[in-house]
Amino acid sequence: SPGRIEVIVGPMFSGKSEELIRRLKRARIARQRVACFKPDIDLRYHRTSIASHSAQTHEAMTVANTERLREALYPQLESIEVVGIDEAQFFDEAIVPLVVELVHLGKRIILAGLDTTFTAEPFGPIPALMAVADEVAKLSAVCMVCGQPAIHTQRLGASQELVVVGAAGVYEARCRACFKPYLDEH
Ligand code: ADP
Ligand code: ZN
Repeated sequence: SPGRIEVIVGPMFSGKSEELIRRLKRARIARQRVACFKPDIDLRYHRTSIASHSAQTHEAMTVANTERLREALYPQLESIEVVGIDEAQFFDEAIVPLVVELVHLGKRIILAGLDTTFTAEPFGPIPALMAVADEVAKLSAVCMVCGQPAIHTQRLGASQELVVVGAAGVYEARCRACFKPYLDEH
């Protein structure tokens, strides 16, 4: 079968994990064998599954980086038809050639990740993954200020670190008009 790269992007709370889980569950209904991975930076909820904010889960293996993902995947690769990757923004750039390699082997790869950081910058390997994708789904959340469709992830409070783990109370979905980058510098 021809391979396929599907990328699901959007801000936090836009339903990326939910959509990834939905697609993986349907693949399993079609009796395809699925392997799912996430970076170990994402500590929310579970270490052995991916979870959405609405509590759906799917079994997943936590890996430290792209090389570890490759090592975990290749021994079982012949029996795997679909590869899911959540929080793909946290992987290193080597994820891009790995995904391209897998698609040439006829695999379906479905990745979910943030397209922008909390300062509205492109996030890690996501732009490059979008460039090689067969299909990109850009989801919106609901703006927590005004209720309009939200494309931004607003960080609340003072931290300037790129990665603050956890969601509720730390991040909020915001529309373009309500988004305030560099909150504490002005
Ligand atoms: P993502 O992976 O994009 O962060 P999830 O799939 O984990 O999103 O969660 C999506 C779910 O989050 C929605 O179905 C809804 O139940 C919940 N949710 C909480 N806050 C919001 C919001 N501001 N906009 C949309 N959904 C929200
Ligand atoms: Zn708004």
